[in-house]
Amino acid sequence: MKLVSKGKFLYDTKVIFSRRRKKSKSKLAKTAPYMEEGVLLIDKHFSIEVLSSVTSRLLKLEANQKFFTYSEDLQSPILDKIILMIKGNKLSERVKLDDIMYSLQLIDDGKKGSFIAVIKDTTSIEKALHMGKEFVGNASHELRTPITIIKGFTEMLLESEQIQPSMQRSILEKIAASTARMEHLVNHLLRLTDLENNELEGVIPANIHELIEDVSYQVLSIHTDFQIEHLRKEEDLFCLVEPDLIELVLINLCKNCVKYSREEKVIEIKVDREDSYVYIKITDKGIGIPEKDLVNIFDRFYTVDKAHCRKLGGAGLGLSIVKLIVEKHKGKIYATSELGKSTSMHVYLPLAKTPASVGLAQV
Ligand code: ADP
Repeated sequence: MKLVSKGKFLYDTKVIFSRRRKKSKSKLAKTAPYMEEGVLLIDKHFSIEVLSSVTSRLLKLEANQKFFTYSEDLQSPILDKIILMIKGNKLSERVKLDDIMYSLQLIDDGKKGSFIAVIKDTTSIEKALHMGKEFVGNASHELRTPITIIKGFTEMLLESEQIQPSMQRSILEKIAASTARMEHLVNHLLRLTDLENNELEGVIPANIHELIEDVSYQVLSIHTDFQIEHLRKEEDLFCLVEPDLIELVLINLCKNCVKYSREEKVIEIKVDREDSYVYIKITDKGIGIPEKDLVNIFDRFYTVDKAHCRKLGGAGLGLSIVKLIVEKHKGKIYATSELGKSTSMHVYLPLAKTPASVGLAQV
């Protein structure tokens, strides 16, 4: 037994270490249960102490398995990775197991060969980062096309000495169209960011039929060859919404009916109540949407046929804005379709408990 001097007293080194270790261990043991990361202590003999229930869950171990020695038979893939890290002198690693991303970190415990291992499920962070990158990539890509067109045609105008007035006009029209497309895109992007970062300003009971009539008037004044059939079971049906935002939802959905229409220029809007929701079904007789795309069309920048959508001035942002607004209102939306025949958008908005709607519910 080796004795060392510390001040006036003599200590046994083993005792000093175990005191120190106990101190750091107890500090860690106290905080670990409150941490969202998993934490464990592992010594040079691969004796392991699990410090929280989160750790057991991440390691896929039984909750009562707190002190044990590592063996492959434990069948804990993360523990296997940690042991490999120790053997390979690696202090941090990211691993993907069963579609879950983990960040593993080893911190030297101060005693040779002993480590504190910190395990974190980073799936949602990585997903958010990926979505952010994808969003910026898509937005830049969508903006690049009109910028290239504007640049090309402006240079053409500047470099051509003599240019026919009709040609000049045609070039300026192309520049104007690309500028409008950029403006449309930027407005959509700003609206998405705005909606994501802010709560609803204030919901009020709004008569859904009045909103539909307003929207129908706006759509039909531009698309005069269209017809909107507004079908209702109840005369007054109120939903609890921010009316301007719900008008935006309805306009976007009707505009898509117009954009993706075929010969039959009819939009049917059916309104009913379903449990605690106002249910609105908007159906067109257009080109339809393939079954496999139905769940994706609400994703940002998703378009079924990119070239076709671009030609129609879309970038796949309209429905993501629609979905965000509906979900902000605690509502839901989904699409059904018969390819080549029709598409229906099913929107559910919270029913407002006005005296009128309560009274009608009892009839
Ligand atoms: P876009 O601005 O390109 O129309 P949206 O987000 O509004 O973007 O729609 C996403 C995609 O969903 C569209 O590109 C189109 O392929 C498809 N889509 C949406 N509504 C309809 C519809 N009523 N009929 C057929 N396809 C539709």
